[in-house]
Amino acid sequence: MDIGDREAVLWGSPIELRAQDRLRRVRDALLRTTLLPAFAMSPARLAHYVEQLRRLRPRMLFGYPSALCRIASHAQEHDVPLDGLGVKVAFVTAERLYEEQRAQIAAAFSCPVANGYGGRDAGFIAHECPDGGMHITAEDIIVEIVDAGGQPLPAGRTGQIVVTHLATQDYPFIRYATGDVGALGTAPCACGRGLPLLQHIEGRSTDFLTAVDGTVMHGLALVYIVRELPQVRGFKIIQESLLRTRVLLVCLPRLDAATRAAIVSGFQARLGAQVDISIEEVDEIAAEASGKYRYVVSRVA
Ligand SMILES: [Zn+2]
Repeated sequence: MDIGDREAVLWGSPIELRAQDRLRRVRDALLRTTLLPAFAMSPARLAHYVEQLRRLRPRMLFGYPSALCRIASHAQEHDVPLDGLGVKVAFVTAERLYEEQRAQIAAAFSCPVANGYGGRDAGFIAHECPDGGMHITAEDIIVEIVDAGGQPLPAGRTGQIVVTHLATQDYPFIRYATGDVGALGTAPCACGRGLPLLQHIEGRSTDFLTAVDGTVMHGLALVYIVRELPQVRGFKIIQESLLRTRVLLVCLPRLDAATRAAIVSGFQARLGAQVDISIEEVDEIAAEASGKYRYVVSRVA
């Protein structure tokens, strides 16, 4: 990849991009980056994105696998080819990449799909090598796997992924809990790189949510409303129906009336003014039976 290669980014929002590390800001300035917000992907918006991609002919795509798949599906349904654009690679991150997603993106854009782990909060934590190993970028990042009590686990054991990022000058991340689950590799990668491997990554589940007007949006669009509040220690968003969404929150201290009202209006702004937003303060959020944490669940088909 050359400096100046065109790139299309499917990411949360310009605000989230500003929160990225300095390296990324420098890169964005050097590269000709076009941001296509992945939050509110209505059919009209998807058509617009397909058109933009055909016009931009980006050399790199960067985004959530689910968002790239929605664009690929839309293009396929409308017989709009994307495989001749000259995309060299699609970088995906922030969600678990399922094999069928990898195949769909690779076929739609006729390019390899490179999976990365990390992204928004702690920068890139690991990158996939050509042999498929997820290598921790270990020079300035310490990745630990810890148990429920915060005690480090040995390689091969599955637990919560916590990250200490030494190179971020603005504010160092010290044992930042990603909310994801994984294990450190026990054997060297076939590629010969000495960097340690991260395996069995299970990300937060980010179901898509549907607004009353039919707009489909990424679950993170709602996650951001509650996640940055200092008193929120845990959360789970359950869209029970088009007209009712429950917001389970573990708060310390408890929410005041003004914050509750702000959460409700934030959710209604995205889902629809008539939607009943039910805030429920709970003591803890249990994992699913599989052990996987699902932060956003939609029961709307
Ligand atoms: Zn490797």
